[in-house]
Amino acid sequence: MDNAICVPARMFTQLQQALPPHEGEMEMKYDCDVIVVGGGPVGLFLAAELGMRGVSVQLFDNKSGTCTHPAANANSARTMEHYRRLGIAAEVRSQGLPGDHVTDVAYYTRLSRHQLARLSQPCSSDAVSRAKDYEFLWPTAELPHRCSQLYVEPVLLKAAKRYASTQAHYDSSVQSLEQDEDGVTATVVSTLDGRQTQCRAKYLIGCDGPRSTVRSLMGLHYTGSGGEKREFMGGRMAATYFSAPELNAAVQGGRAWQYWTLNHEQRSLIVSVDGRGGFIINIQLQGDAEPSDHDVGQRIATAIGTNVNIPFTLISSTTWTAGFALVAEKMRQGRIFLAGDSAHLFTPTGGMGYNTGIEDAANLAWKLEALVKGFGGGILADSYEAERKPVAARNTDFARQFADSIGYVRLPKALEDETAEGEAARRSVGAHLNFHGHKEFVIPGVQLGTRYEDSPLVCTEAGSPPPDTANLYLPSGRPGHRAPHVWLKDGSSLYDRFGSGFTLLRLGGGAHQAGADLAGLPQGCPVSEQTIASEEARDLYGADFVLLRPDQHIAWRGNRIDAEFGRALSKSLGLAKP
Ligand SMILES: Cc1cc2nc3c(=O)[nH]c(=O)nc-3n(C[C@H](O)[C@H](O)[C@H](O)COP(=O)(O)OP(=O)(O)OC[C@H]3O[C@@H](n4cnc5c(N)ncnc54)[C@H](O)[C@@H]3O)c2cc1C
Repeated sequence: MDNAICVPARMFTQLQQALPPHEGEMEMKYDCDVIVVGGGPVGLFLAAELGMRGVSVQLFDNKSGTCTHPAANANSARTMEHYRRLGIAAEVRSQGLPGDHVTDVAYYTRLSRHQLARLSQPCSSDAVSRAKDYEFLWPTAELPHRCSQLYVEPVLLKAAKRYASTQAHYDSSVQSLEQDEDGVTATVVSTLDGRQTQCRAKYLIGCDGPRSTVRSLMGLHYTGSGGEKREFMGGRMAATYFSAPELNAAVQGGRAWQYWTLNHEQRSLIVSVDGRGGFIINIQLQGDAEPSDHDVGQRIATAIGTNVNIPFTLISSTTWTAGFALVAEKMRQGRIFLAGDSAHLFTPTGGMGYNTGIEDAANLAWKLEALVKGFGGGILADSYEAERKPVAARNTDFARQFADSIGYVRLPKALEDETAEGEAARRSVGAHLNFHGHKEFVIPGVQLGTRYEDSPLVCTEAGSPPPDTANLYLPSGRPGHRAPHVWLKDGSSLYDRFGSGFTLLRLGGGAHQAGADLAGLPQGCPVSEQTIASEEARDLYGADFVLLRPDQHIAWRGNRIDAEFGRALSKSLGLAKP
């Protein structure tokens, strides 16, 4: 770890003294623009994104480094688009399973016995080159990527460390906060020696996970449904990381990324972490007792099948609870915001907890930049909750539907019998699982269909938006929607033409209006212009001109740059009078 940037809390006082005051703010002393509490994937991504935007950050995490126990293992197409924007998509894609490892989802009675169903999915080495083949279903340059949080977090930390103004402090627990009109002061306690320091910033973001200190200091609670009980994915669970290099060879039907086992003894989800024998198994627990290593070992053997003897070693274990679909009652209070699990808690079916958190951070980062640099208005701060809370409710609801679809599967008595009746039972359960596999894992609508039509930043158009469904994404040029993706004639992605600030696209024949007057933009507001002579893009967006926000959502579309454009830009910057 690079000490220039990852400093324990006890060194923080010297660091504070070394920080220069910000220009024009001599009367008010800030240690940084934004404090990020929590260095999980959401806090790290937010720190990197703010760093890229020239916003200074102090991040505090109470662990000693990035996570060591795998949890999230699915990176959505939208998350990968954000990583592409930060220039780290290729590096994230090179992590986790080897490039030639299939990312199938397979369902079994037990791994060495009967395969019930299998959803075939491409290897990561094919994902970039084959993105065009999947265009109908996944219109994006970045297909989903299966890779554990274990490997993603170090890439995010490295991305954050590219910016001198971003500093990450481990072994540092934020324990209290004070907010006033001008900023937020956090008290940070070193978990190594108990020493206390204070850090002051203009804004503070709680990315500190489900048991969020920030959320509880704000006096906020989750609302929604918790504690749902199901046969599987509804109740207390154990997640055990283990090594079994011989397991892949014993699996019926060849290796996969996820292996679900269903039999009358137990149900489990086993995920291949590195393709070389590192796996994580999730099993449902009965009662409150912590499972012993012996219990967990037996549960692994049961999932594999006791007809084979596969040696394995336990690495680490944790417990968690499935059955939540929770959203914080508020995602902002004054200068304090919540993002990621602190703001919403999922059952991990559909792989959406961390991915929703990455979208929160992408939504918030450019707004913080505009507020810190002074080119955005106060409505921007309000818009974060207005835009993201409905998405958190939408996504937790989708995840709950997937949990129901797998968690309530009824198993016929004869499921494992070597008889005609057993075969028929496996065929019928397999038919449901084939259907379920598509339902949970082929979800371009969930991943790409987020829209902010009701946002205070968006001039909503008349007419109906495309339906918001999980398994089908219908691109739309309506303000508030994610910018539709197009492959350009030279084979490149339209997304690579977008700037890191606002982007004005001149599409198709839109070039004929070159020279439109963009004078009068608020000082410091980054707007780049791109002429894209593609009629396909013009048709898809439905206008000659399109204004994109920094998070790649559409702010406005129209056929001329006129007063309406000015009003839309002003509204997107939170400057319009309500
Ligand atoms: C079994 C399982 C599988 C999952 N699979 C997926 C998946 O495939 N895809 C997906 O999208 N999601 C998945 N999730 C969910 C995903 O792991 C979480 O949504 C994600 O980790 C949330 O990220 P975060 O950064 O918001 O919070 P966290 O990862 O919880 O990070 C919070 C950080 O804050 C630190 N912290 C806490 N309190 C303080 C404090 N007071 N001061 C300083 N630091 C503090 C913590 O140590 C931690 O490092 C899964 C979860 C589980 C349990």
